[in-house]
Amino acid sequence: MLTSRWGGWLCLDFANIVEARAAAAPEEHLHTYGELLWWGADTGVLDEERAARLGELADAKPRAAAAALDRAIHLREGVFRTFHHAARALPPPADDLAAIHDRYADGIRHAELDWTREPPAWTWADAHLDQPAWAVAASAVELATHGPLHRVKTCAAEEGCAGLFVDTTKNNSRRWCEMEGCGNEVKFRRQTDRRRAARRRQPPRAR
Ligand SMILES: [Zn+2]
Repeated sequence: MLTSRWGGWLCLDFANIVEARAAAAPEEHLHTYGELLWWGADTGVLDEERAARLGELADAKPRAAAAALDRAIHLREGVFRTFHHAARALPPPADDLAAIHDRYADGIRHAELDWTREPPAWTWADAHLDQPAWAVAASAVELATHGPLHRVKTCAAEEGCAGLFVDTTKNNSRRWCEMEGCGNEVKFRRQTDRRRAARRRQPPRAR
């Protein structure tokens, strides 16, 4: 299981669970409902108690948990394509928007406004297997309606990363998912290219 936070927005971090999406062999890191719970707890979507409760529910109803995992993955792919289009100033495909609509509407139907919070917030009082997906859908709607949508970018690496992130740099200059990852590869390649070019420019050594 992979969790990364470089997306800078919950729904993008969720989409980035699949690595190297544009490469020949993308890497899936989410295989079980238990891994989804682990991701939810790691990112703070679920507190410890809720994650444990959902684990019990999943153990008691494995088929329902598998269906909830399928819905979460369907949502994740919709989120990826929606914001991958947005990053290129293209309108998202209708099916992908629908995937977000459906999970969001479902989540809101089960949510209640908790007035004891400061400020009041939507919460899910009862444990429900779809809760991690509901939180991701709410995050996607927030990014689309209130977030800095024009700051959503896709990693510039040519090796097929296609990771999504919100660029929070002052001058809007971020190009890669992670400097230690794709950024480094690109920098390394440029350095080697420059060195090779410099070598070619050098006169042949005197004997
Ligand atoms: Zn990348």
